[in-house]
Amino acid sequence: MRKPFIGGNWKMNMTISEAREFLLNLQNVDLFSKNVETVIFPPFTSLNALKVALVERGIKLGAQNMHWEKAGAFTGEISPVMLMESGCTHVILGHSERRRIFGEEDSLINAKVCSALKQGITPLLCIGESKEERGQGYARRICAQQLEGSLEGLSEKDITGVLIAYEPVWAIGTGENATVNDAGEMIAFIRQWLGKEYDPETAQKVRILYGGSVNSANAALYFAHPEIDGALIGGASLNSEHFAKIVKIAARRKEDAI
Ligand code: PEP
Repeated sequence: MRKPFIGGNWKMNMTISEAREFLLNLQNVDLFSKNVETVIFPPFTSLNALKVALVERGIKLGAQNMHWEKAGAFTGEISPVMLMESGCTHVILGHSERRRIFGEEDSLINAKVCSALKQGITPLLCIGESKEERGQGYARRICAQQLEGSLEGLSEKDITGVLIAYEPVWAIGTGENATVNDAGEMIAFIRQWLGKEYDPETAQKVRILYGGSVNSANAALYFAHPEIDGALIGGASLNSEHFAKIVKIAARRKEDAI
């Protein structure tokens, strides 16, 4: 069984002092860390400040973005080497907010995915269709295009080191979450695509998450679906009580399966 994964994407929220308070209030997550890989993705400014306290709780540290070069004249950017030094093990790439607001395209995301793998950081690649695209019946086509562009040139070994999050754009931060069936179906499609592009055995090793308005009240439904390996969580990850509850629910899924 693939190990469940829970990611907390804080986006541009939480000052360093707020982040420290969050951790003080985060109860018992360390009890579940052997069954659930838990990663918090704070803003860059909090990475160093949170490193030790997170590790003590069995939680890993991730970044929300990075540049693909190791260093250079790229004002305002952060390199994978800097992230490694700050204690990051994971990085979110291709989030729909980066695609939509900052114009990131698949070729640029591909450069970042390749660079993260080369530097030893696990990329968490986000893909997903807009409401309009779903309405037109293009959800699968859009996701396949994003996979093709973002994963170009990756070997079988590389792909097993990538996490994929299916995040329909219309479900992010809206409270309008995808049904478990729709999310499961899209994730099964992504795995099928990986099976064709690589091979079915390799595809079975890749963890694929759902993201889009997951909270402590609906998480259990998603985690009960055999195709859904966890979640990337935005809004609900800002509340320590709710976040801990979601990690606990994911750990139960693992216990139930044993
Ligand atoms: C996200 O930002 O990746 C996300 C899924 O946000 P939310 O949980 O708030 O929908």
